[in-house]
Amino acid sequence: MTKTDTLTNLVKERIEILFDEAEKAFKTHPERSNRYVELARILSMKINYKLPKEIKMRFCKFCYAYLVPGANCKIRLNSNKKVKTIQCEVCGKTRRIPYSQRNSPK
Ligand SMILES: [Zn+2]
Repeated sequence: MTKTDTLTNLVKERIEILFDEAEKAFKTHPERSNRYVELARILSMKINYKLPKEIKMRFCKFCYAYLVPGANCKIRLNSNKKVKTIQCEVCGKTRRIPYSQRNSPK
């Protein structure tokens, strides 16, 4: 394992911890959750690590607020277009994410 790999693994682990903490803090201190998102972003940028899809969906791409469905964001599924729409209620912007078509016949 190279030095870079070790660093990447370390950062990945750290980012996962930050998001776990963000989830825990959200109920009592939502502003702390946003701070954890910011820290995770800074970490990933420092080593040029692209955040995985599951992580990216947990915060707003525009205002970087930590998103919790039912609390500060709305998620709608469009089964015809196979698109998931996430609306951030902090900044009001929406983003569309195509979701996998595992059950698609073609
Ligand atoms: Zn937003």
